[in-house]
Amino acid sequence: MKASHDPQRIERVGETGLKVLWSDGHESLYTWRLLRSSCPCAACREGGEAAPPAASAGGSLTTALGPASEVKPLELQPVGRYALSIRWSDGHATGIFSHEYLRSICPCEACRPGQFTEG
Ligand SMILES: [Zn+2]
Ligand SMILES: [Zn+2]
Repeated sequence: MKASHDPQRIERVGETGLKVLWSDGHESLYTWRLLRSSCPCAACREGGEAAPPAASAGGSLTTALGPASEVKPLELQPVGRYALSIRWSDGHATGIFSHEYLRSICPCEACRPGQFTEG
């Protein structure tokens, strides 16, 4: 059994985000905003694309997401041995972040060459 993307340790980093230490020694730091916007659940995936016109016509109830940076996790819950479930302060709780998915969205320079061009 190959363990390519097993987290050795998952810990919250204050209000900043989530830190994951992987079995291969790699370390990932995800901001909460990144995780929330990367939510893999069907609702978020569909919402990110073309929204049905009916929804935008009537209500201004869920216009945009407000200050997205304010969204915080209320609860982190391991799902079996392969994933992490996050319950958010905006009430969303259906996103399951598999370890493999988490690793794939690691925002560090090594994983995302060229994404961050500081300076
Ligand atoms: Zn979602
Ligand atoms: Zn990385």
